[in-house]
Amino acid sequence: MVLDNLGSSLRGTLSKLQGKSRLDEDDVSEVVKEIQRSLLQADVDVSLVMDLSDAIETRALEEEPPAGTSARDHVLKIVYEELVDLIGESTEIPLEPQTILLAGLQGSGKTTSAAKMAWWFSKKGLRPAVIQTDTFRPGAYDQAEQMADRAEVSFYGDPDADDPVQIARDGLEATADADVHIVDTAGRHALEDDLIDEIEEIDSVVDPDRSLLVLDAAIGQGAKDQARQFDDSIGIDGVVITKLDGTAKGGGALTAVNETESSIAFLGTGETVQDIERFEPNGFISRLLGMGDLKQLSERVERAMAETGDEDDDWDPQDIMKGSFTLKDMQKQMEAMNNMGPLDQVMDMIPGMGGGLMDQLPDDAMDVTQDRMRTFDVAMDSMTEEELENPRVIGQERVERIARGAGVDAESIRELLEQHKMMERTIKQFQGMGDGDMQRMMKK
Ligand code: GDP
Repeated sequence: MVLDNLGSSLRGTLSKLQGKSRLDEDDVSEVVKEIQRSLLQADVDVSLVMDLSDAIETRALEEEPPAGTSARDHVLKIVYEELVDLIGESTEIPLEPQTILLAGLQGSGKTTSAAKMAWWFSKKGLRPAVIQTDTFRPGAYDQAEQMADRAEVSFYGDPDADDPVQIARDGLEATADADVHIVDTAGRHALEDDLIDEIEEIDSVVDPDRSLLVLDAAIGQGAKDQARQFDDSIGIDGVVITKLDGTAKGGGALTAVNETESSIAFLGTGETVQDIERFEPNGFISRLLGMGDLKQLSERVERAMAETGDEDDDWDPQDIMKGSFTLKDMQKQMEAMNNMGPLDQVMDMIPGMGGGLMDQLPDDAMDVTQDRMRTFDVAMDSMTEEELENPRVIGQERVERIARGAGVDAESIRELLEQHKMMERTIKQFQGMGDGDMQRMMKK
């Protein structure tokens, strides 16, 4: 996770301030040093670290904490605001026809991200096409074609051509029936003049609506020069950070965002086409800082529960914490979660839980996207009461019957059952927590 260290070390330092209503210069200086240390460790550019920490220091010393606010919360708020200011909103990606140009060095994850983004757009109901113009890297064509295939999106490339600009031109023509064009470009090991010339030419032919810089999350101080040069040549509107599933520091992304005065558009979190997330700044920064907020959480839970299900429904979320977890529970749970937002963010609102328990769970344990939820929903409608209460009775024959009845493929039914098992395991872990936070949260 990007800047994970910042979150945990800052939490440590801030916890020392607990109970204080005012901070003296020594306190502030200790907090600021800690912030600097974690940002530098995360490979954020030195001058950016200084700017950020200066701003935080000045504000922490000059601004009076509002009445009733502890010094700790006040500093946290300042750090939060400064980071929000730096990272900004996520790059605007409208769900409409558009052309996106991807830039970045070789190996940064452009080809992978092109297919992932195309997959993402296709899930939003658009018809994307990937255009591969990388004639420099052997294998780029095959890789791009295979990934586009996996993403089930249109693809254009020409393994025999050697002029990327011509490929881009032909590609736009050949995929004219697509509405979102994602143009992948060549990278180099380092920034070289011919790379810049090439991408500038492609840029002028393609005339993209937005150009995104693809950066490996592990990139450190090199991010600044890259971001500067790509921004100078084609104008960067947003950053895609890849390989966040690795042990990345992620600081380079902050540097790039600052350098290009842009923001983050997408996060890459694995090697398959589905491993892509739209960047969400508020959740991201709150999680970064470990800003647990039970009150906000319980309000969200209450609201979500109120929006879920009928009044006369005898479904009670607390039951989940007691007995067995049925498919019916799962259906309600999915609905509630959908109203609350991603569960990992919800969990991060619980002090002491963010970044802890959730990290031990499989990433997708609770991740049910709206599309899948709809499929699951119709599938469950085709199940008998017995099956809903006790999914263990569903064997191969029943899977096929349910699939036919619901008009979905058998694979979706198996996925649903798999998802149920995963959630059941997760719930069991919470149950194992006895009187833990989860139960208290559910009782609010
Ligand atoms: P390009 O040269 O910029 O087109 O980079 P590629 O798309 O070929 O990616 C380089 C390598 O990084 C490939 O082995 C990809 O599978 C891998 N990769 C790309 N994005 C991710 C990601 O989000 N997570 C992981 N684990 N690997 C990634």
